[in-house]
Amino acid sequence: MSMATASIHLMNNYSRWPVRLVKGQGNTVWDEAGRSYLDFTSGLGVTSLGHVPPSVAKKLHEQIDTLWHSSNLFEHPLQEQLAAKLCQVSGLDRAFFCNSGAEANEAAIKLARRYAQRVKGEERYEVITFQQSFHGRTLATLTATGQEKVKDGFAPLPDGFKSIPFNDSQALRNAISDRTCAVMLELVQGEGGVHPADPAWVKEVRQLCDEHGILLIIDEVQTGIGRTGDWFAFQQYGIKPDIISVAKALGSGFPVGGILADSHVAEGFAPGSHGTTFGGNPLAMAAGIATLETIEQEQLLVKVKALHQSLFQRLQQIQQAVPDKVKAVRGRGLLLGMEVTLPAADILAAAREQGVLLLQAGPQVVRLLPSFVTTEAEIDQVADLLLSIIRSQ
Ligand SMILES: *Cc1c(COP(=O)(O)O)cnc(C)c1O
Repeated sequence: MSMATASIHLMNNYSRWPVRLVKGQGNTVWDEAGRSYLDFTSGLGVTSLGHVPPSVAKKLHEQIDTLWHSSNLFEHPLQEQLAAKLCQVSGLDRAFFCNSGAEANEAAIKLARRYAQRVKGEERYEVITFQQSFHGRTLATLTATGQEKVKDGFAPLPDGFKSIPFNDSQALRNAISDRTCAVMLELVQGEGGVHPADPAWVKEVRQLCDEHGILLIIDEVQTGIGRTGDWFAFQQYGIKPDIISVAKALGSGFPVGGILADSHVAEGFAPGSHGTTFGGNPLAMAAGIATLETIEQEQLLVKVKALHQSLFQRLQQIQQAVPDKVKAVRGRGLLLGMEVTLPAADILAAAREQGVLLLQAGPQVVRLLPSFVTTEAEIDQVADLLLSIIRSQ
């Protein structure tokens, strides 16, 4: 492995792996020295179609020669096209585009508050979120996040957020008050340890929100755009959210985020109430359109479900082989986690030495986010490697 020296000119806010990647294609990435790695991180759930997918690259090349930026002062055919497509596959009515997951959740929170105050005329502002959740790094979204480590050193935090236990109906009943405007929820907590929500509980959450006139925001930043085997995780839970946020995989690596909302809720925003310079930029829209078209044309949702079966089964076999070291295997689609008794970081480092890139979700969960174009042979390779690493540690 090439020993990297961290730049003295970059801020020290990441603990980076000593790998300097310079090229990617499909499921393979290469470092400066020309060494290849099998990528089971998808760049943190972003490159779901693999690296540099040809269909998205083609569309981006065309757009590079056409128009890069016009601003939101103008109407925008590509925004309209991507919005229509996202509404069609989600069943929601209106889209707003931004540049990242945190910005999407920030927009969702702003829309929920403004809807309550302007459209419903109620003094509601509080957003209920869940322990171990992750919603982003802006001041509002880190406050919404149910993990203390992301809040460290940033007080005073904005008012109006409450984090309660996940998958706990009584906790939610107790937390709801006449100040509650929204519940914000990941259906599979990604960063927080790959914890899927209990389907019966999610139905109850929807019901409680309906009873109390509270909006349900589903954070689909990591679970959305096919990651769980449907376009959105909420479609597997038999509920309809009022607002969803998306980002990570939407542009296949080109930065783009957004929210989708029910048309009535979307009335919470009026001209001037929210905006962004870059959001919905033509390059980002081209990447998003090509990403959705590719998922559709190559029937990748079906593929995600099939790959899930294989990978989940292989991980369960590892658990059966070394039950003292693997406590649980969890997740949906190609968002999977293996809870281990060893430090996950050690397993990741050993895998990296062997040319396989994996993720963590907390200190004792190995997280796997392979692309939708992963092969059965690659799943076998990773599973064999994981078993041998865990056995030998
Ligand atoms: C990654 C992530 C975010 C934050 O997205 P950024 O693009 O990093 O701002 C928010 N919510 C969830 C569920 C995520 O996984």
